[in-house]
Amino acid sequence: MKTIVAISTAPMTSAIGIVRISGDRAFEITEKIFSKPLANVDGYRVVYGKIYDGKKVLDTVLAMVFRAPNSYTGEDTVELSCHGSPYILNRVVELLIENGAVRAGRGEFSKMAYINGKMDAVQAEGVIDLIEAQTAAEVAAAQSELGGKISEKVEEVRKKLVSLSADILAYVDYPDEDIADISSEKIEKTVSECYEQINALSLTYGRGRMIKNGVRTVICGKPNAGKSMLMNSILGCERSIVTETEGTTRDVVGESAVFGGVKLEVRDTAGIRDASDDVEKIGVKLAEKELASADLILFVFDMSRKKDENDERVLEEIKKSSAKKIAVLNKSDIAVKTEKTPDFEEFDASVVISAKTGEGMKNLEKTVASLVSDGVVPSEVVMNARQFECLCGCAAALKNALDNISMTPDVLLDDVNEAIVCLGSVTGKGVAEQIIEDIFSRFCVGK
Ligand code: GDP
Repeated sequence: MKTIVAISTAPMTSAIGIVRISGDRAFEITEKIFSKPLANVDGYRVVYGKIYDGKKVLDTVLAMVFRAPNSYTGEDTVELSCHGSPYILNRVVELLIENGAVRAGRGEFSKMAYINGKMDAVQAEGVIDLIEAQTAAEVAAAQSELGGKISEKVEEVRKKLVSLSADILAYVDYPDEDIADISSEKIEKTVSECYEQINALSLTYGRGRMIKNGVRTVICGKPNAGKSMLMNSILGCERSIVTETEGTTRDVVGESAVFGGVKLEVRDTAGIRDASDDVEKIGVKLAEKELASADLILFVFDMSRKKDENDERVLEEIKKSSAKKIAVLNKSDIAVKTEKTPDFEEFDASVVISAKTGEGMKNLEKTVASLVSDGVVPSEVVMNARQFECLCGCAAALKNALDNISMTPDVLLDDVNEAIVCLGSVTGKGVAEQIIEDIFSRFCVGK
């Protein structure tokens, strides 16, 4: 087995940076550049010493010692807490490589943890989700993966189905043996219980997807209502975490921002609208493409102008959507006070703001938070698309078994076995190496 090494902290100048080395030869290789012996140091101990680059001292560091199997990877591991100069950190890695270590690939430490049985696929995905978490809800949901709650539930159902499958198989294959009849009531009861459990778990993905990928939020309204300004205002709330999300780490593409403590995936429809003057055509396109898949619609109404047919056209399209809807009454700073604001009764809420001065934005944050999140994250919530697909596969197979429940037991066996395979895939049992590679390739180097 190789001994792997990488910088585990962010690639930038900082007070401290950590180099991690893991594998059978972790202590022996580290000792070659470290001033103190490590071979006889107990696990969970810290040794203060110097790193040598040839005869010269490169850095004074703390070496944290972890002994197999009590480490993140399950192997002997040393974490060198160095001064956070990128030069020093890279040099320490080079020196360890010169002495026999191999540079770790993306997520390779976590992959070792997986191979050594320290975590299953759901927990591994929990590690990535925790690292990437931007909101309290995301942390809570990642903890439900990492803490094994989802895996436990899946495993509990899988074991029930394995036992059922064995019973059916014994009955079918050895009809002459003295094996108790398996009643169709028992099969139906077990299959339907398992179906209920897995279906309920898969339904948490609606919430989980919003927690992880953000609430799909569409800003719409007639030209010049202030959509772009509102968009900028929302993105500006926590600009530091505004990201251009990529397909590799997120399931959807868009601009993401935390607004009122809720992660939003915001789509400003202004761009689409500006592409053409044909409001109606655009309105239809907008309705089909964006509104259909929206979780939240922010309809921007310009209070400085009268409601007109352009507003009506957009409102017609909004009506068809099942998303939560907020009427954002914009330009409060120049609104004609004598003009009565239309009441948008069909909306879940309406908020008066000025995207220009910022007035009312706090109120909008609160309204968004209360509409799309009840603040409580269930103890098990699926937020990973891969896990969700496996659960759906299982639910479909069990549903099929229930539909055919009056058939002979051997007919049901295929569906039950298919459900078992799907559940195994959730936690990584018997899945193709490629899928495991795919999971860990999303990690950063050093994790
Ligand atoms: P969009 O076409 O809906 O995206 O509208 P924009 O965001 O481009 O805004 C159109 C115009 O309205 C611009 O001149 C903005 O400066 C102005 N505007 C937007 N919001 C406000 C506001 O709250 N108050 C005032 N006074 N002007 C605003």
